[in-house]
Amino acid sequence: MSQTPAPAQGSLDNLPLADRLRWLLAVRIGVVVLLPVAAWGITRTADTPALGALVVPGVGLLAVGLLLHRLSALGRRWAVAAITVPVILDAVHLGWALHVAGGISGPVVYVIVLHVICVTLLGSFRTGLKIALWHSLVVMSVLKAVDTALLPAHDVVQGFDSVSYGVFLVAVWVTAVMTSGLGAVNERELRRRRYDEEALRRLAGALHEADTGAKVAEALLDFTVDAADSPLAAVHCHVPEGSAVPAVDLAVRKRRDQDAEPLRGVGAPPPGSLLAAAVDRGSTVLAAMRGPDRWVDEVLEGARRVVAVPFGLDGSGSGVLTFQDDARTGSRIERRRVGVTEQAVAHAATAFARVALLEHLQASALTDGLTGVANRRAFDAAFDRELSVAARTEAPVAVLIIDLDHFKQLNDTYGHQAGDDVLRGVGAALRSCVRPGDVAARYGGEEFALVLPGATADEAIVVARRLRAVLRDVEAPRPITASLGIACQHGAGLSAAELLATADTALYAAKAGGRDRAHLAGMEGPVTGGATDLVPPIPVPRPVGAHATR
Ligand code: GH3
Ligand code: MG
Ligand code: MG
Repeated sequence: MSQTPAPAQGSLDNLPLADRLRWLLAVRIGVVVLLPVAAWGITRTADTPALGALVVPGVGLLAVGLLLHRLSALGRRWAVAAITVPVILDAVHLGWALHVAGGISGPVVYVIVLHVICVTLLGSFRTGLKIALWHSLVVMSVLKAVDTALLPAHDVVQGFDSVSYGVFLVAVWVTAVMTSGLGAVNERELRRRRYDEEALRRLAGALHEADTGAKVAEALLDFTVDAADSPLAAVHCHVPEGSAVPAVDLAVRKRRDQDAEPLRGVGAPPPGSLLAAAVDRGSTVLAAMRGPDRWVDEVLEGARRVVAVPFGLDGSGSGVLTFQDDARTGSRIERRRVGVTEQAVAHAATAFARVALLEHLQASALTDGLTGVANRRAFDAAFDRELSVAARTEAPVAVLIIDLDHFKQLNDTYGHQAGDDVLRGVGAALRSCVRPGDVAARYGGEEFALVLPGATADEAIVVARRLRAVLRDVEAPRPITASLGIACQHGAGLSAAELLATADTALYAAKAGGRDRAHLAGMEGPVTGGATDLVPPIPVPRPVGAHATR
């Protein structure tokens, strides 16, 4: 559960291979070639073989190393060979140096120990153990070879002595195991950091792409289950009504190996809950759950240990990332998880703010500022879209054009400000009588339009009737009425402009017929209002001349 994920081959090497090769070459010149020569100088007696016995194979060794170093450019296999082959040959050379310069109790033993340390640090802890084993075998072979006269004995090298060899083994293996152990810890930590860096980089990419709050939440949750190694994580964002930015209520949960799922009906964090505690504190809460908590019980399925990382949203909004945590309290793993998640949350908070602003701007660009319904641009786009859907699916579609009656007169009588208030009320009335998927728009001035996807003429007439009813309730200095033109078609047929012109003609007929009524294109007389309804026409305070233009 808390193991370090395997890094992608090559991409996450703690020390790039090329650097390892360069360092290894430097180490080999110093440790494998020059130090044995120095040892030869220190331990030299009349019996000692000539210096050439060390220098010639040393130079040969370097030549092989340099050749492999060149070949390492051919690919990773060659690069690995450029590390392992010279190291294996080094051990043989050092075994020979031990024979030439001082034997098992001479200084070459320290050179061998140094070689083990260097190889462990530059290779890996496994390589270190392997080279320790190889040195042990080579040195034993050299000593045995002296014993069996395969190699000549001289005054300081007298063959196999189990006590000296035992001391040598202890020195080499203690060094190898300790260096490997410490190296492994560092290596794991470095690899983990590389992994976190990589995960944060991926998160930054995903956040950059995200264009909705839900996508930002998903990117953050993907990161959390991956880099924080949590089986279950959730994000909750809440911006209350009346903030500087539009209200937000967003809750998303993700289980490891599953897609993120939106959670519905989640409001503000209840007082006393873990979410509220994290928001109040403004910093990460590591909680061992003792009492019941709705969020933890339902969303995190009663997790016993939970980390909650709060973040601010614009205005008075707040968000909290929560995740199930099973690391030991105060452990290095827990600290790392929390630290890296806090970094991710900081990035995500910026992305949430950007997306909220973007969504706000997009909505503003498509919304009429005065009435809150769609503006003309949004209407045109939606109408085109719905007509092509209707053409494709052979479905009906209806459009209604609504023109307020004698509105100029209302403006003239009560002032432009009162007129604006009425337009606002009409916008709200329009929104109240359409279904989700319908489009209510301000077409211009005191004219509005409705697109009703899937609506037949009968259904459009019902909507017109409902609209006439709600308009009566609009708060205004005098009752508000409107004339409506309705046009419908089934499947493909007229273009958007043609269908609107048809509705417009029906509206013209409604105005000409006496206003406060709806006409359906292609039909004589009103379909609602006028003589068709029992509702009497509403008198206007100051009659103006019959005026059927819009
Ligand atoms: P009719 O019954 O024939 O439609 O009469 P009308 O007075 O409504 O006719 P007309 O279309 O000529 O007048 C529309 C008026 O709507 C003109 C303008 O003063 C008013 N109007 C247009 N836009 C706004 C607005 O944003 N605010 C206010 N207060 N009035 C507006
Ligand atoms: Mg009008
Ligand atoms: Mg008009």
